[in-house]
Amino acid sequence: MRLEVDRRHLTLPVLGTIHTHENTRRIERLIALNRAKILGVTVSRQGERIIAAVRVSVARPQQSGVAQPDSTVGIDVGVRRLATVATTSEVIDELVNPHALEHRLSELRRLQRQRARRTRGSRQYQETVTKITRLHAEVASLRCHTIHVFTTNLAKTHGVIVVEGLDAASLLQQKGLTGAKSRRRGLSDAALGEIRRQLRYKCPWYGSTLIEADRFFPSSKTCHDCGHVQGIGWVEYWTCDVCSSSHQRDDNAAINLARWASLGSVGAPVKRGAKHQTESHSAAGDDTRKGTPALVGANNSVRSAA
Ligand SMILES: [Zn+2]
Repeated sequence: MRLEVDRRHLTLPVLGTIHTHENTRRIERLIALNRAKILGVTVSRQGERIIAAVRVSVARPQQSGVAQPDSTVGIDVGVRRLATVATTSEVIDELVNPHALEHRLSELRRLQRQRARRTRGSRQYQETVTKITRLHAEVASLRCHTIHVFTTNLAKTHGVIVVEGLDAASLLQQKGLTGAKSRRRGLSDAALGEIRRQLRYKCPWYGSTLIEADRFFPSSKTCHDCGHVQGIGWVEYWTCDVCSSSHQRDDNAAINLARWASLGSVGAPVKRGAKHQTESHSAAGDDTRKGTPALVGANNSVRSAA
């Protein structure tokens, strides 16, 4: 692989010299300064576009550290909102689906209806298919951009970030399921995986600590006021049977996740009500994503080094 001196072309084996959409100036300068090395290039196709991703090893300057080192936040990833950010006591930020994305999603639905009306294999059918392909790519890159901005901000701001752990059991259970529940869950699972993946590498960059809560931690259905765990299904709003405080699902989950930080770290004082959370109530609910019961304990959290 070779970057051409005009900064607008890339020479690849087999494909030959191709015009790039992005200027290659930045990477060329880093190489000239001996601060970057090209490891390889991956060529892929997304919709109608060809994407050449250049893998580089870069010496990054030392980052100045996070803005609020004492801040601990929990991130709940959902379907209604892309994500909810909370401290141990309150919700401080919400990541809603951006307007541009919502707009394209409804446009996508319209085009899919249109395609269904057309005769398969006809010219008009093909035209609609092309439009759908393009829109899918737009939706994907918009969501990608939104998530990138979000995770960078988080990693630059907070000292400790808690996310839900990998839920392998739910991924397996979803196979072959066509119900609305599993589809909705699948959507947020994808976003959750991506947010977690980005935080895993961005947190060490900016000096933030990422904690992955135990995957069986019942963050949504544990009352953050009294620690009572109850089956809540898929409802958005619920009321605690014990202390009758009312909760919004995502807000409650994010707060519980933020508190996980002190539960998960060894030797830290356990908060009032936390005793209840550490018992194996977790998986007994009607939630499809829960697998076998697991004890939520001190050793189960994954702490990535800062
Ligand atoms: Zn309660």
